[in-house]
Amino acid sequence: MPWVKEDLCKGCAICLKVCPVEGAIEMKDKKAYIHNDICTRCGKCMDVCPTNAIRPNSENPALRGFGRGSGHGGHRHNHGEW
Ligand code: SF4
Ligand code: SF4
Repeated sequence: MPWVKEDLCKGCAICLKVCPVEGAIEMKDKKAYIHNDICTRCGKCMDVCPTNAIRPNSENPALRGFGRGSGHGGHRHNHGEW
């Protein structure tokens, strides 16, 4: 699932315009916010973002931190899904 690296997002809202799912991207405080419950992971927002602020799930520090401290992340299987 995609997530927005807020410090890179400049609030241009291009991602919002290309997103085919109405409401999947919302601007909050001039930063893009992705509603992962309705996002179809089509990847269009990632393609168009000029600052590469939209990152795949595998780069989400919050989720990466999840596996830390338990060896190699143990039972957390990431099939390349984002
Ligand atoms: S396209 Fe990128 S920089 Fe522009 S609003 Fe979306 S996430 Fe932010
Ligand atoms: S991956 Fe597709 S559906 Fe999800 S927020 Fe980006 S443009 Fe919208």
